Order: sequence, then C-alpha cells, then structure tokens
Amino acid sequence: MGRALIIGCGGVAGVVIHKCCQNSDVFEEIMIASRTKSKCDAIKEKLDGTTATKIRTAKVDADNVDELCALIDEYKPDIVMNIALPYQDLTIMDACLKCGVNYMDTANYEPEDTDDPEWRAIYEKRCKDEGFTAYFDYSWQWAYKKKFEDAGLTALLGSGFDPGVTQAYCAYAQKHLFDEIDTIDILDCNGGDHGYPFATNFNPEINLREVSAPGSYWENGHWVEIPAMSIKREYDFDQVGHKDMYLLHHEEIESLAKNIPGVQRIRFFMTFGQSYLTHMKCLENVGMLSTTPIEFEGHQIVPIQFLKALLPDPATLGPRTKGKTNIGCIFTGKKDGKEKTAYIYNVCDHEECYREVGSQAISYTTGVPAMIGAAMLLTGKWNKPGVYTVEEFDPDPYMEALNKWGLPWQINDKPVLVD
Ligand code: NDP
Repeated sequence: MGRALIIGCGGVAGVVIHKCCQNSDVFEEIMIASRTKSKCDAIKEKLDGTTATKIRTAKVDADNVDELCALIDEYKPDIVMNIALPYQDLTIMDACLKCGVNYMDTANYEPEDTDDPEWRAIYEKRCKDEGFTAYFDYSWQWAYKKKFEDAGLTALLGSGFDPGVTQAYCAYAQKHLFDEIDTIDILDCNGGDHGYPFATNFNPEINLREVSAPGSYWENGHWVEIPAMSIKREYDFDQVGHKDMYLLHHEEIESLAKNIPGVQRIRFFMTFGQSYLTHMKCLENVGMLSTTPIEFEGHQIVPIQFLKALLPDPATLGPRTKGKTNIGCIFTGKKDGKEKTAYIYNVCDHEECYREVGSQAISYTTGVPAMIGAAMLLTGKWNKPGVYTVEEFDPDPYMEALNKWGLPWQINDKPVLVD
C-alpha cells in the first residue's frame, strides 16, 4: 500500500521498524535513515528474510533540509516518520513541505540549544503569555498549519503513547462515553526495574529536561505552574501495585485544553522511584543537566550530552527490564445528565515486549502507536490537510489498531480518583 521513510534508529525506532515489518500489507517498503547508518544496516540485516516489507537504509543528517530533500526526492516516500529527536521536528517538516510528503512524529519541537537568543526571546514571551516554562510547546509546529493546508498535506503530531494514545483515549471518551468531560488525569506508571541505580528509559537528554522542569496543569482556562516534583500522590495501579507519582508538565495538556470542549482541569502524573529522584536532584545540583556548553580542557562540552554518553543507552535496557507499565486517563464528567467516571488504560509487560521485538516497554508503547499513526495516514483514514494532534481525528480505527497491534486497552468505570 505504501512506502515510509523512517528517520532515526534509536530505541523507539527499533520498535517502529519491527512493527512496520509485521504490517507489510500497509508498509510495503521502508527506508531507515539516520545519523549512524551502521545501526540502520544492523536492524535491516536482522529483519530481512523475516518480512515481506522491502527495507533500504541510508545516512542522513536530519538537521539539514537539503540533505533530507535529496533523500526524499530519491526514495519518494508516501510518508516521513520522524522517530529521531524533537530537535529535528521543524527541519523534517520543512523538507516534507518542500517535497510534498505527509509527516508524523512522536514529540513536539524543542531546540537543542536553549541559549539561542532568537529562540530564547520567543520562549520568554511565551512563558509570560501562556504561563508555563517548559522548553517544548506546540506553537512552533502549529505555525505550520496553513502551509500544510495549502500544500494539501497532513502532519500528525505526537503519535506515541503520551502524547498519542492518551489523546486517542480522550477522543474516544468524548465520542462514546461522555456528553461533557470535566476533568482528565493522565497517569503514566512504569513499574519496570532494569537493575541499574540510574538510567532513563528513553533519550536521556529529552527525558531529563522533561522531568526536571517545573510541573504545570490546566485549570479553569489557564496554566498553574508549580516547582518540579512538588505535587506527589500515591496510586494503586492495576497489575503494578502502589506507586508514588508526581505532577509534571506534559505536552498533550496543551492540545487537549484546546480540543476537549468545556474541560475544567487536565493533569499529568508520572511515577518515579526514590533512587531516580535522588540521582536526578544530585545531577541537577552539580550542573550535569545543563544544556549550556562549558569549556573543558580546550573543548566545548554540553554537560547533559556528556551525561548521556555515560548513562546506559535506553535501547539496551530491553534484556534487563522486568515488570509492567500501566498508562491511561481517568475522566470525570456527565452522561445523560448523570455524573460519570471512566479510566481507560493499557498494561504492557517489559519482558513480553523484549521477546516480541527486542525492546523494553517504554520504547514499545511509543513505537507501536507511531506505526499505527503512520498507517492511519497511509490507509487514508486520517488524511486532512493541516497540522493535527491525535485527538483531532476519529479515534475508532486507531483504538481498534491498538488492540490488534499489541497495546490492548480496557475501561474501568469505577476508578479510584486522584485527589
Ligand atoms: P534515541 O536517542 O534512542 O534515538 C534517536 C535517534 O535519532 C538515534 O538513532 C539518533 O542517531 C537519531 N538522530 C539524532 N539526531 C539526528 C540527526 N540530526 N539526523 C539523523 N538522525 C538523528 O531516542 P528514543 O528512540 O528514545 O526517542 C525517539 C523519540 O521518541 C524522541 O523524540 C522522544 O522524545 C520520543 N518519545 C516519545 C514518547 C511518547 O510517548 N510520545 C515516549 C518516549 C520517547 P544516533 O544513533 O546517531 O544517535
């Protein structure tokens, strides 16, 4: 049915590639293109002969629009799947516009260099106007809406688990379960254990930037920002048990606040163990999370990039990680004039993911929806010109695909609510 160009070959892309190769009717051909071509070749070698999908590989610097365009013009994909880093979102969108191809990604734009004065001026204005200080937000990509509309192309933003599946849950709740949604609590629990004192389960730089930032939530039409990790709750997660979770800023809150009419409050919580938090605080206190380059023995180094080089590569955690993830949304609202609650969630087992695709569940729960999002565009189910997040499309085919491709969901209509 189609041909996809997959950019990036890290932990999440590994799962995306396996899943596209399981779904060869839709992904007849894929090209894996990344900065380090040897990684692309290694996965091609592993999968060739086990799948009907034809695989090619290439080297590309996705920060360079001309290089991307040369590759797109040569391969002529029906979609470009950005599974590299949020830093590359805008250059890949530019290349898609220039070459006339649909686009998708799993995380919204943030700059690699947060000291860039041009970016910083816009960022500081946004902090003042909007009231949250995270480095990432949708404004940069939403600014492409008209260009994609005019070009008759679709850009699907944030089709991972959170963002991604969580918004499909919201659209499903809005369509099938509620007349009005009053509150949404997104709960992201990783009950897995990889045996290291400290490791991140996706790209360390992006992960540590996200969790060390101030938390924030949406309430009654505006953002409320709080110091990092200052709101803590305990929750008893199905198949995982009791975990401490902390309120974080998360990107899907921004789009859901616009797209779920009348919603009064949206919060996002993620579980962390004490060891993770103690390590992170210590690293932050000594300056290791800084994105500002420092001079070291005649070289410029960025502390957080140096830290990334020291930490375990998330793509290697698969064989060591045991336990389950449980990620979902708790809704309160009204149906037929009566108060109602619902909890839609998925439970995913790290070891089962490893057996199936050689990755832990965080990469799996991101990679499967990325494949599904691309399949929605390739099969024509979600095509509309412009730039959209997941909750702006019909959730039904996506929810059905989640059940089919390894992330089955369930609904509890009497969940314990988070206070
Ligand atoms: P990794 O660091 O494991 O992989 C990133 C890949 O992108 C690497 O292969 C890297 O190349 C490649 N890359 C980086 N820069 C460039 C460039 N300039 N040109 C070409 N390729 C490049 O990250 P993850 O797989 O953990 O994460 C991938 C994405 O998934 C991130 O955007 C992350 O934020 C997102 N994510 C989304 C989640 C969700 O639920 N929505 C959850 C988890 C992650 P090299 O191998 O040379 O380093």
